[in-house]
Amino acid sequence: MGRPWRRIRARKLQRDPLCQPCLKNGRTTSATEVHHVTPRSLGGDHSPTNLMSICTQCHDELGMPRRVRTDGIAVLEDGTILEAV
Ligand SMILES: [Zn+2]
Repeated sequence: MGRPWRRIRARKLQRDPLCQPCLKNGRTTSATEVHHVTPRSLGGDHSPTNLMSICTQCHDELGMPRRVRTDGIAVLEDGTILEAV
């Protein structure tokens, strides 16, 4: 069995309570989601280096232009593969 995602997620939000994409853009926004940088479908795991704290708005923006392929993997229009958490 994998480690409980809810606990890992909560710990990540505790450690990095601010949205990381917002910080890069000079905004300070509370993160509400935890995003997998490398999608689990591509072998990404729950390790701290693969997790990104993100706010709902940034998460939506990440997700908006995506389409879901028939194999269930979400890709952006430029072909970047991602996975919503
Ligand atoms: Zn954000």
